[in-house]
Amino acid sequence: MTQPDVASDKPLDFIRQIITDDLASGKHSHIVTRFPPEPNGYLHIGHAKSICLNFGVAKEFAGQCHLRFDDTNPDKESSEYVEAIKRDVRWLGFDWGKNLHFASDYFQQLYEFALSLITMGKAYVCHLSSDEIREYRGTLTEPGRESPYRNRSVEENLTLFNEMKSGKLPEGSCVLRAKIDMAAANIVMRDPVLYRILYSHHHRSGDSWCIYPMYDFTHCLSDMLEGITHSLCTLEFENNRALYDWVLETLKTPCHPQQIEFARLNINYTITSKRKLLQLVEDNKVSGWDDPRMLTISGLRRRGYTPASIRNFCATIGIGKRDSLIDMTVLENAVRDDLNQHAPRVFGVLEPLKVVITNYPEGKEEEVIAQNHPQDPSLGERRLPFGRELYIEQADFMEDAPKKFFRLSIGREVRLRYAYLITCQEAIKDANGRVVELRCTYDPASRGGNAPDGRKVRGTIHWVAAAHAVPAELRLYDRLFTVEDPDGDKERSFMDFLNPNSLAVLHDSMLEPGLAQAGMDERFQFERQGYFCLDSDSATKGKLIFNRIVSLRDSWEKINPQQ
Ligand code: ATP
Ligand code: MG
Repeated sequence: MTQPDVASDKPLDFIRQIITDDLASGKHSHIVTRFPPEPNGYLHIGHAKSICLNFGVAKEFAGQCHLRFDDTNPDKESSEYVEAIKRDVRWLGFDWGKNLHFASDYFQQLYEFALSLITMGKAYVCHLSSDEIREYRGTLTEPGRESPYRNRSVEENLTLFNEMKSGKLPEGSCVLRAKIDMAAANIVMRDPVLYRILYSHHHRSGDSWCIYPMYDFTHCLSDMLEGITHSLCTLEFENNRALYDWVLETLKTPCHPQQIEFARLNINYTITSKRKLLQLVEDNKVSGWDDPRMLTISGLRRRGYTPASIRNFCATIGIGKRDSLIDMTVLENAVRDDLNQHAPRVFGVLEPLKVVITNYPEGKEEEVIAQNHPQDPSLGERRLPFGRELYIEQADFMEDAPKKFFRLSIGREVRLRYAYLITCQEAIKDANGRVVELRCTYDPASRGGNAPDGRKVRGTIHWVAAAHAVPAELRLYDRLFTVEDPDGDKERSFMDFLNPNSLAVLHDSMLEPGLAQAGMDERFQFERQGYFCLDSDSATKGKLIFNRIVSLRDSWEKINPQQ
């Protein structure tokens, strides 16, 4: 298993502090956590925070972390989602070992716990409709009213619950509710629903059950059955903790996990809700759950994010009690930091402009030596073919260039990185006046890119030799939404804020020859242009397609520190 990269010199967050104290006091000797996704969609970056926390804590304290599917809503769940979630957790570098669990495996036990509550007079079958239940529940300022079915006998409740279970009652005709307190200040405690009837096929239990337990009843008991010590969840469950504790206390279970809430992760310019991400997929606003613009784990993976960069990001943002909005650039910087260290440098020309070096002998070819990583010589070097015809970026030529434009213009000299100094003599235009080719001369004495007389050439540009360049499609991504908080507008849906320019496709890019052999797991820095990796469409479409993972920061300064 890959080590979560948690910086050890950081002060403990409040959850790690609680665990440290529990171990010190002897309350626990072995820590057990769980990550409990509902298999109703693919995991997103918010889940990564919870995964890194739960699996990270287990690892750091030599405990164990369970992967438990909270699969109690058969209509929305599927084994496709189960498999996708397992793949994503594994890819992030975590391992649940033998501890793969499903709430559906506990259906029989949960049913028996429900019978116990009924027998204790702590649960009853209620025939109010869901609207009526809501109406009877009261508000924050007004107490609720008791259901007319609240005081039935234990025997009657047992009979009715049994009828619910054996399929004698129609969907929606009744529910099982906990009998707690309709005047409780915490609305969650006003006789919450524990079971409902659903004639739905379950992806694991099939048609064995037609009653399904609710989240609040299922979760605490599943935690208890698995011997979870610390049940870490997000802040929106704070009010549910009272019910979590009530169920376990009332049933006098042998073990009582501690629920602890932490702030969920929100990132600007995106949404982290499976339901809303599903809407983007279903409405074809994106190409699928793994669209590289989606902040799903599968989208980030396809985009080229590394597992380490996501773990580092989660470590950077930390764990707290207050909800906050994290800037997207924090995530982008995490992947930049990782790729900057490890990604080999290559040349890729995004929007090619042909260059002919008129004084370079026709038919001649040579090779120049290029560093794979200027800061890390251990990554070695490679040979790049060089010849009379090259491609450079269209953006590296300007006709009426200002003085400070240190790239090509008529009469100006530039360095072709690792190769030669060239001077632009002439720009050839097509019928529309568009520059389609440059005629340049090179200084044969400048091999390697150094001026023989020490004359100053400030600009350095990348290039590829035309005879050996490999054509590729490049996909450049921008944020999926145009506003910081796409979900924050009361009148308009997040769908109204989709960025129409979130994907730009370059069809005619030219790359250095080695990239024809790029592997799916490799990531490269295209010098001056950003980090790129192959897209999974490459295999199916039979051509090279690269995703830009993220652009560079200060790229121009890095190559030209003096500017
Ligand atoms: P969604 O609204 O996207 O469906 P969810 O909370 O319903 O999210 P679950 O599958 O129930 O999704 O979540 C599994 C675990 O991941 C839960 O413990 C939940 O608290 C946690 N989680 C979900 N979203 C976030 C988030 N944005 N930040 C941190 N943890 C999260
Ligand atoms: Mg949920």
